[in-house]
Amino acid sequence: MSLRLKFNLVLVSVFLLGVIVAGIYYDRYLEQYALDEVQYNSQVLMETALAVRGYTSDNIKPHLDPLNAQTFLPETVPAFSATEVVHRLQNRYVGYDYKEAVLDPSNPRDRAADWEAEIIQRFRAGHSGKELTGFHGEGMARTMYVARPIKITNPACLACHSTPEAAPPSMLKVYGSRNGFGWKLGDIIGIQLVQVPVFYPMEKARRTFTNFMLSLLAIFAAMFAAMNLALSGFVIGPMARLNRKLEDLATRDFLTDLVNRRRFFEQLTSAMAEARIGKQGLSVIMLDLDFFKRINDTFGHDSGDMVLKNAALRVRELLRSSDCAARFGGEEFCILLRETRIDAAAALAEAVRAKIADAPFGDVGKVSASFGVAEWDHKEDGHTLLSRADKALYVAKETGRNKVVRAEPNPG
Ligand code: GH3
Ligand code: MG
Ligand code: MG
Repeated sequence: MSLRLKFNLVLVSVFLLGVIVAGIYYDRYLEQYALDEVQYNSQVLMETALAVRGYTSDNIKPHLDPLNAQTFLPETVPAFSATEVVHRLQNRYVGYDYKEAVLDPSNPRDRAADWEAEIIQRFRAGHSGKELTGFHGEGMARTMYVARPIKITNPACLACHSTPEAAPPSMLKVYGSRNGFGWKLGDIIGIQLVQVPVFYPMEKARRTFTNFMLSLLAIFAAMFAAMNLALSGFVIGPMARLNRKLEDLATRDFLTDLVNRRRFFEQLTSAMAEARIGKQGLSVIMLDLDFFKRINDTFGHDSGDMVLKNAALRVRELLRSSDCAARFGGEEFCILLRETRIDAAAALAEAVRAKIADAPFGDVGKVSASFGVAEWDHKEDGHTLLSRADKALYVAKETGRNKVVRAEPNPG
């Protein structure tokens, strides 16, 4: 696995982990925040309704009661005024609602719907808390509600709600004598119900969440790009250059600039694999400069080096790009010839021999080399192939030098 891939995997894993943790945390946080706000608003609305109720019974009703005797004024009923005030609020705050939902109300608009009646029954069944909260409705109409029980604690209530006979005639004129009677002290006859819409605050929370996640993603994308650039510039690039240098040091001969024995065997192994698949020929040439020791002894080591360098250059000039020439050691070279049968290999060896032998090497004068050529038999290993070439080279040395000798076929 490449360094960049590993690095990016770590980066992406950390990001994903961070995103999941942050996502879960902020999703919950924002939802809770939105619900807290809704709850707060519902409490404000409930207290507002209660304030209007109190104001109506303390400050309005006493003044209007004398008029009530002739014409019933619903404005003197606290429930009525609280409901009216919140209805006006609805022009600006859609979905906010206040209702005094009663099982058997005088005013039919206060009749409890089924789900409201269920809440009333829960209070009647002895729900101990001061209020009940929950959710009602679906989609855009979903609301959070707060319900508080309406318990008859004030005997004054019974003036209008005990029996039709006891009720003011002006009230009977408006609401009739069928509903809103039979209430008793201590009865829970209904609930004060506040509703506050949930959809928009939740939608806002969702949008905030999406924006937050997108900005996380954008920050990560920028970081990802920057880290990768930095990785290329500060690590991978210099490391690749260093690697090439090390590779060069490990596989090249610095004097002749040919590859060394190690790299030659790598190349030979891969060339044998290719030749095996393609059933092509593959040959090697081994060459050794003749009487090189004498050159060193006569002209000095530096002149010997110069001859080695120039001999390598002459070898190179005759090679194709697919061939590979190596300095095997001392003044011995090896050439790998892909897709080459023995005849072509021997012809090339002959050309190299002539190129070395024909032109003098400066002050040193003429230098020659001896050659052994072998073609791979598609069975033997690399070392056997080379030792056959080496034997042929030995024969060339033994039989007069400055010549090309073909290797014996592999007896095995
Ligand atoms: P033959 O024709 O039988 O090959 O004789 P030769 O003298 O070439 O063979 P021998 O193996 O006796 O000598 C090789 C010499 O090459 C010995 C060594 O000092 C010299 N040599 C090896 N490496 C280098 C090098 O890097 N630079 C120089 N100048 N000489 C080297
Ligand atoms: Mg030699
Ligand atoms: Mg030698």
